[in-house]
Formats: sequence, C-alpha cells, structure tokens
Amino acid sequence: MSRYLIDRYQSLEAYVPGEQPRDMQYVKLNTNESPYPPAPGVVEAVQAEAGRLQLYSDPVCVELRDALAARYGVKRENVFVSNGSDDILNFAFMAFGGPRAYFPDISYGFYPVYAGLHGLEAHPIPLRQDFSIDPVDYMVLDGFIAIANPNAPTGMALEIGQIEDILRANPDHVVLIDEAYVDFGAESCVRLTAKYDNLLVVQTFSKSRSMAGARLGFAIANEGLIADLEKIKFSTNPYSINRMTLAAGLATLKADDVCTANCRRVVDTREVTVDRLRQMGFEVLPSKANFVFARHPHSGGGFLYRQLKARGVLVRHFDSPRIKDFLRITIGTPEQMDVLCAALKHILEAE
Ligand SMILES: *Cc1c(COP(=O)(O)O)cnc(C)c1O
Repeated sequence: MSRYLIDRYQSLEAYVPGEQPRDMQYVKLNTNESPYPPAPGVVEAVQAEAGRLQLYSDPVCVELRDALAARYGVKRENVFVSNGSDDILNFAFMAFGGPRAYFPDISYGFYPVYAGLHGLEAHPIPLRQDFSIDPVDYMVLDGFIAIANPNAPTGMALEIGQIEDILRANPDHVVLIDEAYVDFGAESCVRLTAKYDNLLVVQTFSKSRSMAGARLGFAIANEGLIADLEKIKFSTNPYSINRMTLAAGLATLKADDVCTANCRRVVDTREVTVDRLRQMGFEVLPSKANFVFARHPHSGGGFLYRQLKARGVLVRHFDSPRIKDFLRITIGTPEQMDVLCAALKHILEAE
C-alpha cells in the first residue's frame, strides 16, 4: 500500500477469487464454471465482431437488452446489462446501499467487499444452524438487502413466497436477489419485478450459459431501478461491455435450448454426485446450484482440499470458522466427477 491511498480504502479488504493456477492441468471444480463449451454460433459471432474492434461498442446495448426482454417477458426498459454480474452488484451497492447493507453471514464473499468499498455499514445476518436463510430475520430492516438465491456457497434456495414476504416487509429499501445459479433448479423471482418496485434481480451468463470468460451479467427490475443503474454505468464506463461479448451474448440467447440442456446435464450429474458423496460418508447440503457443499465427519476441509489438489483436483475451501470443514465442489462432467470421487475414496481410505 502506498501513502497516497485515501483513508477510506486503507482498511478495505479486497475480494479473493478462486485460484486459477497455471502450473499444471487440474480437474477444475473450484470456481463454478460450466464444464461445457459456449453455445453453437458463439465462436463465429465473436470472430466476426473481432474485425470491427476499431469501433466502440453500443453503450445502450439495444439488441442484447431486447433479446433478454423477449426471453424473460419484460420490456427493454426493465433490463440492464454490464460487464459481469459483479459489475452490477457493485453498481447496486453504490446506488441503493446505505447507510446499511444486510446480507447472510455465509454468502457471496463480494457483498461485504462492496459494502466496504462504498462506506456502508455491513450487517451480516447469521444463517440458521442447518445453513438455511430464515426469512423472518429479513423483516423490516432499515437498509439495502442482498440475498443470493440459491445461496453460495451453500447451494440452498429460498422459495419465491419467502422472497415475496421479504419484499413486502421492506418497501422502502431495495432487495437485490442474486440469481447467479437460478438456472440449476431454483425458482426465479423475475416475474415479481412487475409487482414490486424494490426488487432487483441480478443474473449472469457466467455459469448456466458457459460464458464466465466473456464477462456478461444482467439485471431485471422496474424501469426506475434500471434507469438508476444506467445513470451509474454512464457515469463510470458506458462501454463496459465490449463488442465481442455483446455478440457472444446474442448468439448464446439464440441457442438458449442448448444452455437449458447443459443445465439439465449438470443437475443430473449433481444428483448422482450427491449420492456418491453421501455413500462415502459426506454430509451434503441440499443444492439447487451447479456445486455442492459437503463435509466429512472424519476429515477436515483444509486437509481434503490439499490432498485433492496434490492429486490434480481443485475444489474451493473457505477457511472461516463455521464452514472450514466444508468443500465447495463445482459439478463438472460425469467423467470429472468420476476422477473426484476416485480421489476422495483413496484419500479417505489412506487415512
Ligand atoms: C459467480 C457469482 C457471481 C458473479 O458472476 P459474474 O457474472 O461472473 O461476475 C455473482 N454472484 C454469485 C453469488 C456468484 O456465485
């Protein structure tokens, strides 16, 4: 840190992304990427656009927003797009946070970071003993609320009626529902955006649409909230989505049935993996996401993480008190999960 960094950022702790090691080829199950390639037509669309890189991209993103609006049954004015959903979460904390921000104590690690970045008072709300969110804890709060549904890293989802209760109890504050994993089996609350002007739904192309490397996220909400987000985007970086990513997003939406089929494959693989992990003695939380969160009664999370890494399998381990014995394991292809399960069997038998 230099002596020039202004005071309010000196104590800021940045987000730590999952590792992306270059030393060898791992079976990579640590950052919830899709194991399947981008949809058909995406590579060609990106290549065609690469020849026009001398031109700025469309800052209003008309075509992509119209395609998303058609896909989700809303209007262009209800859709916001930016450079990954992290970008949108940042804008939302900036625009709607404050002076307080509430979110589950075990959730996406970026929420406390954005709260710190924008000088908000962060109020983590403890999950229940079984790692579920208790909607009662979110009734009549005096600030911005962010909830990942399904939650990360637990994978557990709230029902839409429970989210509606939270929206109704907090009419004077924005409730952000982060649906990064919703396409793997949870119920989306997009349709509630017509009814609640305080609901901001955020989704991403990173997981269910195989585009993590392209950086594309979107939000759906009442047009007032979308106009506010546009104002922030046009006050920072109007061209936040580059030409190639805009083209990739459009091509992906044209092949949305392929993405849906890939999600179904991931869900099927998840169910098989959950059974196999339970047979090995793991406790596995009920997941509606493209990952599972699991712990073994006899082996610590840190130990299993290191042993797996030594065997070429990367998973995510969080070294924080309540969840230090858990592993977050991304659901890959059936073949990748075979490698994971075989490695775990060896490790547990060698103990
Ligand atoms: C992966 C993830 C995101 C970020 O998605 P990007 O669009 O890649 O920025 C947001 N929220 C949660 C809960 C996530 O797990």
